[in-house]
Amino acid sequence: MQVRKNDTVLVMTGDDRGKTGRVMRILTKTDRVLVQGVNMVFKHMKRSMDYPHGARIQREAPLAVGNVMLVCPACSKATRVAMVTGADGRHSRTCKKCKQAITVGEE
Ligand SMILES: [Zn+2]
Repeated sequence: MQVRKNDTVLVMTGDDRGKTGRVMRILTKTDRVLVQGVNMVFKHMKRSMDYPHGARIQREAPLAVGNVMLVCPACSKATRVAMVTGADGRHSRTCKKCKQAITVGEE
């Protein structure tokens, strides 16, 4: 998976196509990501202590990681990343468009 928590991603498909948002959570098992403000759904809450009358609240629903692209913080384009091994043996995610390292020292 090329996307990490706190990355900014661009949504490629669905109603939210073209929106960008910050990755709040990665769901590795299902290859899904939770993106802030994207793929909002209404969740109906039962009556409880927090919602004495029940409630209809908007929440983000996870979307498939294949439907988002990473937005490069350096050139702010939606891009794919390459894993580059530096001279010190550490891996960095590198933007394929501007060749800037996005993060250094990862798996
Ligand atoms: Zn870039």
